[in-house]
Amino acid sequence: MLEIPEAVTVARQAHEAWAGRTITSAEAGRSPHGFAFYTGDAPEWYAGALAGQRLESVRPHAGYVVFTFEDWRLALSDGARLRRLDRGTPRPPKHQLLIEFDDGTALVCTVQMYACLALLGEGEGEDNIYFQGALRSISPLTSAFTLDHLRGLAEAAKPSLSAKGLLATEQRIPGLGNGCLHDILFAAGIHPQRRIDTLGDDDLETLHSAIVRTLTEMTEAGGRDTERDLHDKPGGYRTVLSAKTRDLPCPRCAGSITRKPYLGGHIYFCPTCQPLSQRRTHESSAPFVQRSTELDLQIDVSNIAEVLELLDGATHS
Ligand SMILES: [Zn+2]
Repeated sequence: MLEIPEAVTVARQAHEAWAGRTITSAEAGRSPHGFAFYTGDAPEWYAGALAGQRLESVRPHAGYVVFTFEDWRLALSDGARLRRLDRGTPRPPKHQLLIEFDDGTALVCTVQMYACLALLGEGEGEDNIYFQGALRSISPLTSAFTLDHLRGLAEAAKPSLSAKGLLATEQRIPGLGNGCLHDILFAAGIHPQRRIDTLGDDDLETLHSAIVRTLTEMTEAGGRDTERDLHDKPGGYRTVLSAKTRDLPCPRCAGSITRKPYLGGHIYFCPTCQPLSQRRTHESSAPFVQRSTELDLQIDVSNIAEVLELLDGATHS
């Protein structure tokens, strides 16, 4: 699935390949797909609308790649898989959208799990909350994605929400999904199931810089190695935690990585480097201080016992 790093990469490649080119023909909906969503009741009208259109630009918006033609915008969402085909390369028999350009190359689009392939006229698409969310989103790749912005997202969410829930659900950070989040949370040392009301200010600061740094690294490398770009090449960012590395030891502590289903999709984490803390920062601090004092005392007592044992051993030797 396209997330922010891949959407940036594919949009850049598509812009380089076709900006200024004109469409000679197009076909939408050749292979029926229950989760390919087009504008209108049937996608047959795309062919007539797109033929003869000149491509002005291709831009990423969160997990969307948006093609702007003279009269239309084509908004392809995160489940759309985009490939460039050379002149003379046989066109695949199955696809959900095929666009032929005047240099003999083509864009073929297939839908992975589900995707929106919306062709929108001037002012259309206002009712598509995901597309609007993407257009209006504050990208973690820009300086507008501040620590205050992340803190605002956390404060507006339910205290029982998990770290994964904060990053990858409800369009809080459009374009950040179940692919990129594993390496972000690993970098931050935060368990994906950890409640956000256990995150202190330091944790949020660490999480903020992990989001920005990890997504920037992924984008600069041309996307993750688990995904393929417009030219069918895997991205240059080597994922730390993904289906590709699931049997490898944790790169930090050499322990085993855990994989389990959680909140729609599998999560990957190191239980040692990303402990699941239960302490809640927003509760009254009194009970915690009390518990903590008891714990300190226990540690002190056991230390004394150890010291006495050592002394005992020393006097007898
Ligand atoms: Zn570890």
